[in-house]
Amino acid sequence: MDFRLGPKADEVRREIRTWLAANFSEEDRRRAHEDGGGHDWDLYRKLAAEGWVSAGWPVEMGGGGRDPYEILTLYWELCKAGFPWIGLLNNGFIGHTLMAMGTDHHREHFVPRIASGEIAFALGYSEPGSGSDVASCRTMATRDGDDWRINGQKMWTTTGHTAQYIFMLTRTATLDRPHKGLTVFLVPTDAEGVDVQPVHTMGGERSNAVYLSNVPVSDSARVGEVDKGWSVVRFALGLEQAMGYADLQERFLEDARRWALAEQADGGLPFDDPRVREQLGQTAIHTEVARLLRHRSTWLSAESRPLGGKGAMTKSFSGSSYLEDAQAWTQLVGSAGLLAEGEDGAVAGGAFEEAFRQTPVNTIYGGTVEILRSLVAEVELQLPKSR
Ligand SMILES: Cc1cc2nc3c(=O)[nH]c(=O)nc-3n(C[C@H](O)[C@H](O)[C@H](O)COP(=O)(O)OP(=O)(O)OC[C@H]3O[C@@H](n4cnc5c(N)ncnc54)[C@H](O)[C@@H]3O)c2cc1C
Repeated sequence: MDFRLGPKADEVRREIRTWLAANFSEEDRRRAHEDGGGHDWDLYRKLAAEGWVSAGWPVEMGGGGRDPYEILTLYWELCKAGFPWIGLLNNGFIGHTLMAMGTDHHREHFVPRIASGEIAFALGYSEPGSGSDVASCRTMATRDGDDWRINGQKMWTTTGHTAQYIFMLTRTATLDRPHKGLTVFLVPTDAEGVDVQPVHTMGGERSNAVYLSNVPVSDSARVGEVDKGWSVVRFALGLEQAMGYADLQERFLEDARRWALAEQADGGLPFDDPRVREQLGQTAIHTEVARLLRHRSTWLSAESRPLGGKGAMTKSFSGSSYLEDAQAWTQLVGSAGLLAEGEDGAVAGGAFEEAFRQTPVNTIYGGTVEILRSLVAEVELQLPKSR
């Protein structure tokens, strides 16, 4: 079986690498890394001007009509280069969701502005006490004439400080089951009553807490039917879960390999240590399996087949194996592995230190590995629902 992605994907790899070489400097990478917000308007708009933001959208919606393998390659290269791409990802999820489930107004008013790089969306699902169990959402949207008022709090609204809108899950009714009575709105971040506060993580990412106090929202900003927002959110979340972190794992493997083969102050190579060789092999296996799982999820999407539990499998394996490798390398190299990029004596240019801090969240956001494993058991093994 040939697992390569084909000549069109190879061409995208060449194109985006050329674009990155011309438009994304080491200084840009460092700034994005220090900022941690995952979005840079200047860089993002340059990307949009080349048509990359909407590259995977249908041509009739103004997109580039690129296939899922080309888009996988685009994201892979941007991620590996350290490009601040969370805004791009969010906009991809929301663009697709609005095209599939939005109104004509959404398709005319929002979708072209996402494609041109004018606007961006943050994802407003999680709340204090409502993360894995997203359907237990308590942020209330209540009728105000023909329109709505929103009250409550969202948590972990990444890019909420740079985006113009939050794709927000709200409760509009209390019915017999929690996933009923939910409604999705596109809430402007500059609306009266929206307060976005920073949350800095140990992984170096900047996320946000968002407080909503009697926020006025037009009914035209509602996505899907009133009280039936669960299907809208499931559609958007489904796009997120099939990804995993194989691109980051590949970059980590390359950093570890480069370090293992670099001569140290004592003239020796880390590679001479059998424990280093064994860990390189283990990291390579994890990276390859994560890559293949992601390719399979992409293939299912390219063939318009149902993902089943394969998306959950992809993200769960990738998140947990990357965490395992980051911890194993830190343990192996000892205290020097705690030195960060730019510090004297940092191992592998600080890659181990960064991964050690960053990988725990990969097992949390977009669905924790525990929840994803239970989904795999239910969907792939047809075991009884455990939640
Ligand atoms: C850096 C960062 C960025 C994020 N960005 C966003 C964002 O942009 N938008 C957004 O909406 N959210 C975002 N999130 C939120 C993320 O999706 C949630 O943190 C995640 O869904 C887990 O929810 P929780 O934190 O409330 O943990 P909980 O749901 O309280 O879970 C705590 C622990 O209990 C386990 N657990 C819970 N229920 C079960 C069960 N039934 N069976 C077995 N184990 C269970 C979990 O696996 C976990 O280990 C972000 C989170 C982080 C850390």
